[in-house]
Amino acid sequence: MCSDVVTRFAPSPTGYLHIGGARTALFNWLYARGRGGKFLLRIEDTDRERSTPEATAAILKGLDWLGLDHDGEVISQFDRAPRHAEVALELLAQGKAYKCFSTQEEIQAFREAAQAEKRSTLFRSPWRDADPSTHPDGPYAIRIKAPQDGETVIRDQVQGDVTIRNDQLDDMILLRSDGTPVYMLAVVVDDHDMGVTHVIRGDDHLNNAARQMMIYTAMGWTVPVWAHIPLIHGPDGKKLSKRHGALGVEEYQAMGYPAAGMRNYLARLGWSHGDDEFFTDAQAKDWFDLSGIGKSPARLDFKKLEN
Ligand code: GLU
Repeated sequence: MCSDVVTRFAPSPTGYLHIGGARTALFNWLYARGRGGKFLLRIEDTDRERSTPEATAAILKGLDWLGLDHDGEVISQFDRAPRHAEVALELLAQGKAYKCFSTQEEIQAFREAAQAEKRSTLFRSPWRDADPSTHPDGPYAIRIKAPQDGETVIRDQVQGDVTIRNDQLDDMILLRSDGTPVYMLAVVVDDHDMGVTHVIRGDDHLNNAARQMMIYTAMGWTVPVWAHIPLIHGPDGKKLSKRHGALGVEEYQAMGYPAAGMRNYLARLGWSHGDDEFFTDAQAKDWFDLSGIGKSPARLDFKKLEN
């Protein structure tokens, strides 16, 4: 079976591969592998302060142990910065983005005034519709022209339709005044260029999806299928943290857990298939579907993993 499905795992290399990331990777892998599609790996290393080669190595090692093989080369997001900038300039040339000369101080003053007057503090740049002949020589950021009325609907396979009023979107920066692209632009350009058809990731990125859709729409690109998975909680219902137990995949490897058991366990964190508790890889690939992902946070119960 061969299909056009392309998924990806796009970790930020700021630490070890944790359970949440491993589950995201597994869901993407299962979805692609079960459909004869491709599973790609992109390292989101644009944050130069926090990204480390050790973390990238740990993530690759963790994926390798779990048997989550990816197609093609590992892509570095940082290396693609020139391409991200190119798209910002294309939007500028098309009049879908503009040069904003506002300084940090001016933006701050705008926000303070808006707060005092109890207006929305979303920055509205005076440069959006400015005549280019009035442009000064100074540094500028490139901002996208956000839609000003109507709504943006994220058609999410897990969360259902999520509607955002467009007046809640600001003209976000695409390219900073030092010429560096913002993360939101990088993700969209990379997903588009890599041919990603399904974006399966944690629901902490749901808000980003609305902003990312602005870029897809402005470029006339096809929006991928979204599936934002609820985060994992500890047995006490609180956000998963170190006090709940081991969080790094490598810790499980060191404790001697079999990778197949770990895959089975991770698959069931937030996804279910009838009453089946244990399944083979072939069954998981065959059965895995976005409709089986629950809307409420999965609870991690370490005892189950030990059984
Ligand atoms: N790099 C992001 C993270 O590690 C994921 C972004 C995405 O999947 O779009 O949380």
